[in-house]
Amino acid sequence: MKKPLVIITGASSGIGKAAAIAFSKEGYPLLLIARRKELLEQLQLPEAICAQVDVTDFESLNNAIKAAEAQYGPADLLINNAGIMPLDKIYDQPLTDQYNLIDINIKGVLNGIHAVVNGMKERCHGTIINVSSVAGRYTFANHSVYCGTKYAVHAISEEIRKELGQFNVRVSVLAPAIVDTNLLTSVKNANILASYQATKKEIDNGLKPEDLAAMMLYVYQLPQRIAIKELVTSATNQLC
Ligand code: NDP
Repeated sequence: MKKPLVIITGASSGIGKAAAIAFSKEGYPLLLIARRKELLEQLQLPEAICAQVDVTDFESLNNAIKAAEAQYGPADLLINNAGIMPLDKIYDQPLTDQYNLIDINIKGVLNGIHAVVNGMKERCHGTIINVSSVAGRYTFANHSVYCGTKYAVHAISEEIRKELGQFNVRVSVLAPAIVDTNLLTSVKNANILASYQATKKEIDNGLKPEDLAAMMLYVYQLPQRIAIKELVTSATNQLC
């Protein structure tokens, strides 16, 4: 039987890219979303629509989703993964970085949900996986606004899970600690970057993006009656 459409935001790098490859191997048609379309196209995955979309732009995201649904049928899984992590002290961090965090990490997630939620509710079927972080559970130095965005993703997910469960729609949160991706490219403060990289090195770079992709497949491929509410994960040797 033909598999349903899976949407992955932030599929040009890191966790999203690994998820795109993993879901493609399992035969799912994909809508891959990122600003750098050329990186999506380089993946050369079959039955994959590559859309140059900034997740902060609802209209563009919604149009890409509607076009993909016209081709592959209704979206059954949305992975809200796109995110940035510029770290700094609040007194040093430019307001533009703070606003970008809110716009991409929170509004981007809301935009994705808004585009698919009514369809899933009407069909009484669907799954939304929101990629949060351990920074959505605990606070960390230099992470104030980033933590704020991930706490928001946790809180929003917690409540919409209740709203959507009665319609057989699942909402899962993945909350990893350090994963070896390109996320640190958004850290502009050289001292903070160096200290983060040292921590990462001590733990052999943490989880691999493929580890997260495997968790996503696990969460999604369980029978629809089973909802994994949250997976909080880290490399075993990451102690805090
Ligand atoms: P990467 O930097 O490797 O990937 C981030 C992805 O997000 C890229 O594909 C990027 O694509 C996309 N993205 C960023 N901004 C936008 C935007 N405005 N519109 C569309 N796409 C966007 O980092 P990760 O893979 O690590 O990050 C994925 C998620 O995992 C994030 O939500 C992050 O907060 C979370 N996370 C990561 C951890 C880690 O240690 N790496 C730990 C915990 C959580 P492009 O630039 O082409 O638009």
